[in-house]
Amino acid sequence: MSCIVEIALACPLRQTFDYLSDEPVEHWQPGMRAVIPFGSRQLIGIVIAIKPVSEISTGKLKKIEQQIDKQSFLPVEIMQLVQWVSRYYHHPIGECFQAALPKKLRLGDSDEMQTETYWALQQIPDSKPGKKQQQILDLLEDYPEGLSEKALRLQLGNVKSSLSALAQQNVITARQHVALPVPCLELQLAVSLNNEQKQSVEQVIAEKEQFSSFLLQGITGSGKTEVYIEICREFVENQQQVLVLIPEIGLTTQFVERFRHSLATNIVVINSSVSDADRKQAWLLARSGKADIIIGTRSAVFTPMLNPGLIIIDEEHDSSYKQQDGLRYHARNVALMRAKTLNIPIVLGSATPSLETLYQVKLKRYQLLRLTKRAGGATLPNIKLIAANKTADNNGLSSVLINSIEKHLQQNHQVLLFINRRGFAPVLMCHECNWQANCRSCDAKMVVHQHQNRLFCHHCGLIQTLPKKCPECGHSELKSYGVGTEKIEQALTAIFNDVPVLRIDRDSTQRVNAFANMVKQINQGQAAILVGTQMLAKGHDFHDVTLVGVVDADQALFSADFRATEGLAQLITQVTGRAGRGKKSGEVLIQSEQPEHPFWKKLLQDGYEAIAENLLAERIQMELPPHGFWAVWRAEAKEADLAMQLLQQVAELLQQTASGVMILGPVPALMEKRAGRYRAQLLMRSADRASLHQLIDQHIEAVSKLKLARKGRWSIDIDPTELI
Ligand code: ADP
Ligand code: ZN
Ligand code: ZN
Repeated sequence: MSCIVEIALACPLRQTFDYLSDEPVEHWQPGMRAVIPFGSRQLIGIVIAIKPVSEISTGKLKKIEQQIDKQSFLPVEIMQLVQWVSRYYHHPIGECFQAALPKKLRLGDSDEMQTETYWALQQIPDSKPGKKQQQILDLLEDYPEGLSEKALRLQLGNVKSSLSALAQQNVITARQHVALPVPCLELQLAVSLNNEQKQSVEQVIAEKEQFSSFLLQGITGSGKTEVYIEICREFVENQQQVLVLIPEIGLTTQFVERFRHSLATNIVVINSSVSDADRKQAWLLARSGKADIIIGTRSAVFTPMLNPGLIIIDEEHDSSYKQQDGLRYHARNVALMRAKTLNIPIVLGSATPSLETLYQVKLKRYQLLRLTKRAGGATLPNIKLIAANKTADNNGLSSVLINSIEKHLQQNHQVLLFINRRGFAPVLMCHECNWQANCRSCDAKMVVHQHQNRLFCHHCGLIQTLPKKCPECGHSELKSYGVGTEKIEQALTAIFNDVPVLRIDRDSTQRVNAFANMVKQINQGQAAILVGTQMLAKGHDFHDVTLVGVVDADQALFSADFRATEGLAQLITQVTGRAGRGKKSGEVLIQSEQPEHPFWKKLLQDGYEAIAENLLAERIQMELPPHGFWAVWRAEAKEADLAMQLLQQVAELLQQTASGVMILGPVPALMEKRAGRYRAQLLMRSADRASLHQLIDQHIEAVSKLKLARKGRWSIDIDPTELI
């Protein structure tokens, strides 16, 4: 008996498709994958439902080409989660499934787990084994279940011949076993938690059986990671899995290593540095319940778990949790929904919580756990503002800052300089004719990258050779203005020529392991200067850094985005938290052209919490998120005005039935032209979430049918975090 199968496909259409299957009904389940014909192509789709009849007459239905999965593939919970995401973000269901699956599985790979050869002890050897053989036997003694050849090799080097010698004497035997992550063979003793840490752990564990959300607000270096680890220990002992989300940057290794060294359990990692094959395996191990802890970036929020017990989101304020294209979901939001559905606790951790999260604490929806002291006796650094003067300073470095750097280096300590721009300088111009290097595709300037002798547009990726003379008037002297990491690196190398200067930004860390190697060098602890962008601000634990300098931080104070101040306060607090994390105390110098700005006074005197409190009060008063709900329609097109016209039509549609929802705009985007397209946006706001979503639901179909909608690109962004 054939049946009708409803399928979600990765295509921009907001609908599912019915296909005919020769397989009997009972061979199908929602969540399975199938290969189907779509136009002239073959696509892989996800089964949403199995139906007795279709609205389309059977004669017109196409046949499924192949059923990929013979058994259930996506668990019901993930099916429901993805369907919720599709509804909440008003995004085509098929594309939501794409976001939720690892690449290989999306492309139709079998969902069988990889296996490996594992070795285990069989009997005591008759004769005395060789040295390498003895080492192998010693290790295997601790692992009655056996160890993979890979794990043995990582620990002891080449083991092949010793293994076969031992196997020949029947001392050890091999068997195929699902490939698990290599266990950490040198576990560290658990640290003894201080009282605040203990209390935090206990409060979470007290509610381990039900949905409950916690904000773990702990100053930088207060031992949040240690708290996560101890909470995990409890869940893992209880045979429950923990999903840990971390921001999307190079710091994964350090974080994961601390988990691996503390917990003797299967820990898998799902982020962009992991190969597609390993990501697939990690996902499958999580689904089968064999992975106890899953650590991953944004998209890992969709990882299926057999026995889910807890979700942790580290650095919950981090902007990388929000995807800014395609399915514009916020992983924190999805994780909260998931925890609620699963009825399990969720812990959000940060030294600088987002206003969204602080608002939920205020409304008593989240329980607040606090760590107010630095762990292990370290103290918070002393912070000072210094007035910067663009013209007088040496390549953006004031003499106060330079003297201070010298002092710290003399004591054989490390210095970290933070500058929020990569490249050499953000402006290149000619003094004869006032020509400036602008991007031809964006409303933006080209950034000078001297190392590569090129100009880069940081918005569209356009690359040009660095001109030797002015392209307008031919004048041979072009001047660059402003500072980037390269310029600071160069200036410091010239001043402190016997001290290594390590530049850490997206350019210098592109090669595999480049970042890890630099971190290794830093951890050797000799005097050094680290110059870097955001990457350095986040979560690193460098014990020998005693001075942190912030080179230019002012721009955000004048940004048109109402979230910029919040971002700046978080960034400065995070960067300054990099100083004095070890036994040596730290100092922070912030260079500003606006040292009198009230923002600085408040931040330095009262700290992040006070600033956040003020900002939140302001937002509530002005009815800005997190108070009230926003959605933004965006459009872009090659022709000027098309995006504005399209959104004008969208606005007219919405106005017809808008009650309780304000429609504002359309307006051109702050950077109107980017990558050759003109951009515009239309804002919707409401005090009531349901009304906002209802209005979108009412009209989104009609919007997608607008003539102009087919000429340009458009999207909708729910709970937008960026308005540029
Ligand atoms: P956070 O994540 O809050 O920035 P970490 O968990 O990285 O803080 O802890 C900062 C440092 O303090 C780490 O080196 C960590 O090993 C150490 N630490 C944390 N808790 C304790 C403790 N209870 N006793 C001693 N050292 C601790
Ligand atoms: Zn010129
Ligand atoms: Zn550009």
